[in-house]
Amino acid sequence: MSIVLDQVTKRYQGAPVVNDVSLNVRQGEFLVLLGPSGSGKSTLLRAIAGLTEIDHGRVALHGRDVTHVNSRERHVGFVFQHYALFRHMTIGDNIEFALRVRKVKSAERRARRKELLKLVALEGMDDRLPAQLSGGQQQRVAVARALAHRPEVLLMDEPFGALDAKIREELRRTIRQIQRELDMTTILVTHDQEEAFALADRIGVMHQGRLLECGKPDDLYTRPATRFVSTFLGAANLLLGYRTPRGVRFSSAPMAGGEVPREVVAILRPEEVELCADELAIKSNFVSHGQVEEVLFGGAVERLRVRMASDGPVPVAPGREGSTGQGSLLEVSRTLPEQRDFPVAVGQRVAVGARSIHVLPTPISSFTAVAANEAAARELRDSPLLLTLGTRMQTRVATRIGRFERAPPGMPAIATGPDCAAAAEWHLTHGAVQLLCVPPTAPLPNHVVIHTLDAESRRATLAVAASLLRHVAAEAIYLGIQPAASAESERGAHMRNLLDARSAALADHGLDMRTELRPGVVAEELQKELAAYERSMLVLGTSNPDAIQWDWLKSLLEGTPARPVLIVNSARAEPAADA
Ligand code: ADP
Ligand code: MG
Repeated sequence: MSIVLDQVTKRYQGAPVVNDVSLNVRQGEFLVLLGPSGSGKSTLLRAIAGLTEIDHGRVALHGRDVTHVNSRERHVGFVFQHYALFRHMTIGDNIEFALRVRKVKSAERRARRKELLKLVALEGMDDRLPAQLSGGQQQRVAVARALAHRPEVLLMDEPFGALDAKIREELRRTIRQIQRELDMTTILVTHDQEEAFALADRIGVMHQGRLLECGKPDDLYTRPATRFVSTFLGAANLLLGYRTPRGVRFSSAPMAGGEVPREVVAILRPEEVELCADELAIKSNFVSHGQVEEVLFGGAVERLRVRMASDGPVPVAPGREGSTGQGSLLEVSRTLPEQRDFPVAVGQRVAVGARSIHVLPTPISSFTAVAANEAAARELRDSPLLLTLGTRMQTRVATRIGRFERAPPGMPAIATGPDCAAAAEWHLTHGAVQLLCVPPTAPLPNHVVIHTLDAESRRATLAVAASLLRHVAAEAIYLGIQPAASAESERGAHMRNLLDARSAALADHGLDMRTELRPGVVAEELQKELAAYERSMLVLGTSNPDAIQWDWLKSLLEGTPARPVLIVNSARAEPAADA
């Protein structure tokens, strides 16, 4: 591996802007870091280059730990968004600059300069000043300069940012060519998904300081693991689906045996929607009837919006008040042949089919705020944590007054405070897979403590924690606690188990977290860890809710200061959920 990042964390004013990023880049690989503005891409790139110190973690280049090595000794070439050429120096001198500071002899410098100008197709331009070159040419010089000292890796931060579309495309091609020719391990940062698709061997998607997913462009597009990636890499309809033994369907009605199907987040890409005149003509899987509401524009690709029947699929985010009695809108795109086969107009009734549905492996589908009365349910729904999770997950936060026969689908949320423990116990023994206990006015957590009460619940708990942590900018610690008197060998085994669970979570969910094993009593250690941070939250896993010792949990759920507690009941969690 030529670039290895291990739990790299960088904070500004105490808040992580790069949060536990772990990543391996192979020799010769072209990795694109993609993410919206402010997601931490530049900070991460600068940390690799040694231009920014990090607060936690390790950086290794070509097997050498360079975490504490200064930038010049890291052998990296860096290209900035703005050309950053020396205005008063000729192109030749600009390129030779990095060699001069490294005390390379003049004959060798000249030979290298010539070689590099040829590489970036600017032969003979040695004596010009930067101002005499176009933007695209200047950026080529910047690339040549970054490569002058024969770096082992090339890092580029939005190198095409300031260029217009045509030149950008041309420069892309040049950079890809040079990268292949030199077999240069490269990381390029961009916020432009088209650029990422055009250049990358692999794309790493960043959001709020986290590296959410990393994979081949087509894998990320067809099988994203997260809501953010599925909507950031192209258009997607996010729908609440229900997993049955015969596949995903869109009705939550109980199955034949009376069992309630599991709620999941399903992705239907606009191009995977089939439209026909009636249900019988649908060749794919029938989803719903609908009415064409908008035809956005014709041409090679036609974009439509179809209002689905009110008993059709529920979008993941139907708006704040839940169902309005009106069906949801579906984004559809159709190729020219499809348009020819079945022309449609606004107002027309159609049957809707799905050629392919991708179910996200996320264990959190939606939330239901459960309270004794309307006002309390609404207060809970509007609590900072639930509001933020609902918005960032683009998911439904429903309300429910009183308990029904069984826990609601998705994740029930209840208020901490009096009677919270009893309500929690009821939900966990009445079908809840996860339960969120929220102090209605508590601010968002910035420190998440994860603990599992037994080994069986590790996997499901870390899956839920990963899903949560993608949406709150909090640092997480997976805490193991063992009686102080336990033997050395037992502690070793426990630590190995924690690390294995962490690696599995990293592999399964792409999300890293710190691990620590402490001697002590579970209740006391958790209380202590939570109390050490003002805005902390607990994620607690169990495979047997009946075995929970409620006395200490009760003091956590009903005492002050109240903190959010997410309980994962792994006995009801699905095994690795991906379809
Ligand atoms: P990106 O390159 O993805 O747009 P950055 O890495 O530049 O994101 O920034 C990530 C976050 O860190 C932003 O919220 C930004 O405001 C903050 N940030 C970056 N540099 C500094 C700094 N020197 N001091 C304080 N905050 C910073
Ligand atoms: Mg940036």
